[in-house]
Amino acid sequence: MSTTAETRPVGEKRPVPDSGIVLVCGTRPELIKLAPLARFYGEACEVVYTGQHYDPSLYAQLRAGIPGSSRFHELKIGSARRGTQLGRSVSAVDEVLAASGDRVVLVQGDTTSALAGALAANAQGLPLVHIEAGLRSHDRSMPEEHNRVLIDHLADLCCAPTELNRQNLRNENIAPERIAVTGNTVVEALQTAIPDAADQAAVLAPLGLHRDGYALATIHRPENVDEPLRLTTILRELARLPVPVVLPLHPRTSQSVRRFGLTRLLQPLRVLEPQSYPAFLALAAAAALIVSDSGGIQEEVSVLKRPVVVVRRSTERPEVFGTFGVLVPPGPRISAEAERWLDDVPGHRERLRALPSPYGDGTACRRIADAIEELTRAG
Ligand code: UDP
Repeated sequence: MSTTAETRPVGEKRPVPDSGIVLVCGTRPELIKLAPLARFYGEACEVVYTGQHYDPSLYAQLRAGIPGSSRFHELKIGSARRGTQLGRSVSAVDEVLAASGDRVVLVQGDTTSALAGALAANAQGLPLVHIEAGLRSHDRSMPEEHNRVLIDHLADLCCAPTELNRQNLRNENIAPERIAVTGNTVVEALQTAIPDAADQAAVLAPLGLHRDGYALATIHRPENVDEPLRLTTILRELARLPVPVVLPLHPRTSQSVRRFGLTRLLQPLRVLEPQSYPAFLALAAAAALIVSDSGGIQEEVSVLKRPVVVVRRSTERPEVFGTFGVLVPPGPRISAEAERWLDDVPGHRERLRALPSPYGDGTACRRIADAIEELTRAG
């Protein structure tokens, strides 16, 4: 980590490297986590959005929250087989980069769009920074695992959220001078977007929900929703919880429910449209428990101090287990683990309140900017 990071006030604006910044992304979680960097760099930053997520419920509201719209390139790649989507994205991002001049390219996470941005930056000979570097599930059946590894090895600078992520990079012989431990920008993203108490109450009231009186669930990963038996098991497990379960339904999950004829399994649940980021945070902050297969939500619970049951076989984010969360495979342990947390909601709330987030204190942008400054100075 840069030593200068310690001496600057939080949120201080600075001149960007002469070359400026391009953020390449294509999905809801990337827009959420890159928004703080887009705000930080302001007019000196361009955004290239591939359109990997194009459903309005995952995109339109978030797009509106990204400043500097005159510098927002929308590529509209849309859905396709993974290889086709990757190829089209590399080619389209390459066109934008070729016209953008000398810039530092930032990609975030592990999506096809992030890999496309990394390959295009590499092909253009531009410095590449990987935000959220060093996450490893060691699960080679997940396309995201391959994307992460490839991006980390291409990157000139790996911004690792945690010490564990730094160690993962070192285990793969990535040189220490290419790594900075920065925390995760999700902390700033959440702190900026979360509504105040009155606005949180205004989200809950029309739904008839009360603080600590319900569970919030999100399920969307292909391994959980693309197979009818697994999706059936998960929906049945959610219905067994002793509190109302609120389920903002991801478009992918909604499609699977229709395709497999499982609509009746939604009846016991409080199904909602995908929520805006602030509304979702309001629901999460007041939930007794969160049940989710989302990567970002595993991080957000540690800032909101809420417990999470993570429904996955493997995870690249083990930092919250044993404190904020537990990992369960999609099966009967979902309701069993959930009931353990629901047994003593005030007790868990009190205990979790005292625990720091492993993802940092909301200074990731500043630390990333310091590391980029060092990179461009050294280059
Ligand atoms: N989220 C949201 N509205 C919703 C559900 C989730 O804004 O209805 C946010 C959530 O807070 C997190 C992000 O979307 O920041 C997670 O996105 P997703 O689950 O699609 O992707 P993952 O994190 O698994 O990559």
